[in-house]
Amino acid sequence: MSDASGRLWAIREVTSRSIRSLPEMAGGTKVREVFGSNTFDTAAMKQKLPKPVFESLQETIRRGTKLDPGIANEVAHAVKEWALERGATHFCHWFQPQTGLTAEKHDAFLTFDDEGQHVERFSGAQLIQSEPDASSFPSGGMRTTFEARGYTAWDPSSPIFIVDGPNGKTLCVPSVFISYHGDALDNKTPLLRSMEVLSERALGVLRLFGDTSSVRVVPTVGPEQEYFLIDRAFYSLRPDLVAAGRTLIGARPPKGQELEDHYFGSIKDRILAFMQEAEVELYKLGIPIKTRHNEVAPSQYETAPIFEEANVASDHNQVVMETMQRVARRHNLVCLLHEKPFAGVNGSGKHCNWSLMDSQGRNLLEPGATPERNLQFLVFLMAVLQGLHRRAGLLRAAIASSGNDHRLGANEAPPAIISAFLGEQLTRVLDGIEKGEATGAAGVERIALGVRRLPEVARDNTDRNRTSPFAFTGNKFEFRAVSSAASISMPVAFLNAAVAEALAELEEALKARMAKGASLQDAVLDVVRESVVATKAIRFEGNNYAPEWVEEARRRGIPNLRTTPESLAELVRPEAKEFLSKTKVFSDAEIEARYHVKMERYVKDIEIEIEAVKNIVNTHVLPAAYRQHGLLAGAGQSKAIGSALEKVGAAIEDVTARMADLQSAADRAGAEGLERKAQAYADQVVPAMAAVREVADRIEEIVSDDFWTLPKYREMLFLV
Ligand code: ADP
Ligand code: MG
Repeated sequence: MSDASGRLWAIREVTSRSIRSLPEMAGGTKVREVFGSNTFDTAAMKQKLPKPVFESLQETIRRGTKLDPGIANEVAHAVKEWALERGATHFCHWFQPQTGLTAEKHDAFLTFDDEGQHVERFSGAQLIQSEPDASSFPSGGMRTTFEARGYTAWDPSSPIFIVDGPNGKTLCVPSVFISYHGDALDNKTPLLRSMEVLSERALGVLRLFGDTSSVRVVPTVGPEQEYFLIDRAFYSLRPDLVAAGRTLIGARPPKGQELEDHYFGSIKDRILAFMQEAEVELYKLGIPIKTRHNEVAPSQYETAPIFEEANVASDHNQVVMETMQRVARRHNLVCLLHEKPFAGVNGSGKHCNWSLMDSQGRNLLEPGATPERNLQFLVFLMAVLQGLHRRAGLLRAAIASSGNDHRLGANEAPPAIISAFLGEQLTRVLDGIEKGEATGAAGVERIALGVRRLPEVARDNTDRNRTSPFAFTGNKFEFRAVSSAASISMPVAFLNAAVAEALAELEEALKARMAKGASLQDAVLDVVRESVVATKAIRFEGNNYAPEWVEEARRRGIPNLRTTPESLAELVRPEAKEFLSKTKVFSDAEIEARYHVKMERYVKDIEIEIEAVKNIVNTHVLPAAYRQHGLLAGAGQSKAIGSALEKVGAAIEDVTARMADLQSAADRAGAEGLERKAQAYADQVVPAMAAVREVADRIEEIVSDDFWTLPKYREMLFLV
């Protein structure tokens, strides 16, 4: 029997899979009927709620005002009726602890009344608040285990939904998660806070432009989710994928992504069947999935919804990730969300398209059709650049994770250096404004011209820079460096807060000039010019992958934070804490706690990887190498055999020595405190793992296919 029998079993499984086609879906889906059918959306509310209650709730949702507790019971009753009609038996508060995942604790509606009769109940109090035993969620010291209290509280701005399980349905109430003392323990609370401060500041600026009717400004987000799909049989034979979510060893396939034949290629039936099933599930939950396509790497894909308000987009993205993973299993696939599951081919990100929308639905980053609108656009544009410039380090910290370290700066994804790309035309406009001052009145004329030309920017935005971590794409920014697996809450919250801070400064500067008699136009041009000069360093139109950019960024004083530990350190710098508490996104204690949770998470990720590498080398790689050695040793005497034998022998020595190096690097680091340990992991242990991998991959290439037990890249990535 071959040692590779497991692998061969997997290949047989994969090549004989049938496509999961559901009769009720194969005939097509009436999206109109399905969309939102599992959400307590506006239509359901209207139908189920008394008019005044409906209106009060709508006000809360639309304006972000506080929920009137007086209506809670009626809303709960309506929600219950709606859920029971659909066959739900349980309810839960659905929230996002700092694990990066979502959490839910189910309770049955079932209870007994005073006469001992069983009834189904759901009270206003149960709708609004719940108290899960929260002691096992990461809190970074915000809550000690003996004081395990944590509360979940309904977030009415995100629609209540029903999740279909294999044998029943559960009502989910989107919630925030806070400690007994009101500290944020989740990813959603800071995001909601950042949205509030941003709205306030943006309204301040809009008022200057004579907008008296907008009541709220919301950040809109459309996250493009990248992911890999591989067969479950292969996955189950890869201890590294199971433990760490990425392959820790694996020789490059003879064919990778060189031919660029996967990107936008026709989608294989088996994959399409998965996508269609996942999409219909998401439609039912009111998630407006719009695009699907093959991505650059083999077996890599992308899906993107139509953009929504940031907090809803964030909730929905969590649901998208979870639903894809669940549905993938039904298709005997595994959906890998890790940023770098396979070395040598592209990793996955989550491009967060971000803009601002007023309460009339206007996009504030849409260059308007008139110069006045353009002036307003320029102020908002500069607010983004100014925010990015000032808070680049924090934005880098917000996307830091052990997984994203393999992507950022790895010549395939945006680098670890945060900069903004504006495109040729917008750059010209800003350059014009900058130069305008120096040339006096005639300059102003030129500026006005430049400003008037702006609408063309939106219509004809053909130049794209795929290497930029933060690119303007016509009427929104695309934050490309965001990690594929993580919640988008933190990066979006920091971006919101950074822009809010800048808007406040710009508003103040404008007001100061206008108080001295300047016209709005003159004040704007003046303030924008100042801001253009001040933020120049953050703008980069060139190739972000070029080594010269690293040098250039250093000259410009732009942070280049290559690893997670050094990025996370940004979170707790005094100026960062001051900024976060000023914008009310995180209190000092909360951000300290986040920092700890994230550092600990990084350390745990690496420790899991170390164990997985040791396991895989000792139980897969070395045994295969010994077999190969034995094979050659018994293969007779010849020069070729002798040199092959020597090669295998040397590789065995090498990998053993490098494993010892890895172990001692890990031991040395392990003896340190959290901070130094994390940094030592990043600086010494991660490279030591890469060094082990290098030899392991060499061994994979020289041992008989018969001896190799682990599914190979060429199988995992190319067989579906
Ligand atoms: P790309 O060409 O960048 O791959 P996609 O169509 O895949 O574009 O994704 C673009 C994303 O940007 C979608 O999710 C889309 O809804 C989103 N988007 C468009 N306009 C806005 C906006 N004003 N605010 C936020 N996101 C937006
Ligand atoms: Mg896309």
